[in-house]
Amino acid sequence: MNKKRCKDCGGTYNEEFFNLRHKGGRTRQAVCNICHQTRRDIIKEVDRWLEKARRALSHHVKSLKRTSDELINIFGWDVKKMARDAKHAFLNTCDYCGTKYADMVHGMAEITLDIVNIKSAPFYNINTKWVCNSCNGRKQKMSTGEWGRYLQYVTAWKAQQRKLEKNPLLALPLFEYAENK
Ligand SMILES: [Zn+2]
Ligand SMILES: [Zn+2]
Repeated sequence: MNKKRCKDCGGTYNEEFFNLRHKGGRTRQAVCNICHQTRRDIIKEVDRWLEKARRALSHHVKSLKRTSDELINIFGWDVKKMARDAKHAFLNTCDYCGTKYADMVHGMAEITLDIVNIKSAPFYNINTKWVCNSCNGRKQKMSTGEWGRYLQYVTAWKAQQRKLEKNPLLALPLFEYAENK
């Protein structure tokens, strides 16, 4: 069987490990079967984030009562950048509550675009944040004062989590904690 070298991974394999370019044709692709699959998966993944960014844009066209042209050209809503930012945020934690997206149940649906200060102009770079769906919804229902206090509770809760990491017994009721001391 003829051998062929894959353009992506550099491996040399029997020709049959390279997909045919066209069904019934004779020429084969320049990359091996698995590298071809990997390329497709990468494209698909990028597309999912672009789709997410486009949805965020169209959602805010309605909620902010702006045209998409205004958001894109005046306020810098570049969907490619938005897609990259959303993906990057998703690998980390929600900026408000500090929860890891990886620990949330609904995957990509958990990340949403928040307009930080709804009374200011919606410049993408300075007045938006990719945050979790729960925080975004909570923030929209709260007054500025309530939301400010909520963020303080989040800070206190995070401090408590750090204490717990050092001493898990702190989570026990007081008498049990005393017995275990
Ligand atoms: Zn390959
Ligand atoms: Zn959150």
